[in-house]
Amino acid sequence: MRTEVYIALGSNLNSPPRQVQRAISSLARLPETKLIHTAPWYRSRAIGPGKQADYINTVVSIATALTPRQLLRELQAIENQQGRKRVVRWGPRSIDLDILLFGKRTIKSKILTIPHPHLTRRNFVIYPLADIAPDLVLPDTTSVQKLLANTCAEGIVRLKAGETLGSTG
Ligand code: ATP
Ligand code: CA
Ligand code: CA
Repeated sequence: MRTEVYIALGSNLNSPPRQVQRAISSLARLPETKLIHTAPWYRSRAIGPGKQADYINTVVSIATALTPRQLLRELQAIENQQGRKRVVRWGPRSIDLDILLFGKRTIKSKILTIPHPHLTRRNFVIYPLADIAPDLVLPDTTSVQKLLANTCAEGIVRLKAGETLGSTG
């Protein structure tokens, strides 16, 4: 059986649009997995320490027969292929792949928290998620529409198709 899973992508290092595109291609090639939807891309101001370049963020949905742990391992392999270095917490990164939602499951283990703990507080996740899943409801019954209503667009802009340059201003 395949589960509908939502994954957040973010990059602010080494040609972010290229990194995001490459990661999406890799996700589409995962075993027992089908890429379902790709949200529009957003440019967002970096959170985290120091002055950092803007991020490109998006969300994709997949249908997968992998388990949450298997998927996490696959995502980390993609991050490693793209040269992800773990230097500073929330520091610049070539690619970050977070599991936002795994069907209706709630998981709290040492290596995995699902839904992703910061999902409800990050506009650069909520906007693209709402673009591809406007009717989605979280395991705790919070609707994506409600998250969207409580989110402000500060620091982020939606990019038009093909547009990857510019700045959040
Ligand atoms: P944040 O969690 O605030 O988005 P981050 O993405 O920068 O921070 P990472 O360094 O990429 O954090 O990941 C740290 C650890 O988070 C990973 O080793 C992984 O085991 C764990 N983790 C827990 N829940 C998840 C999840 N839902 N998706 C991806 N990784 C997760
Ligand atoms: Ca993250
Ligand atoms: Ca991560």
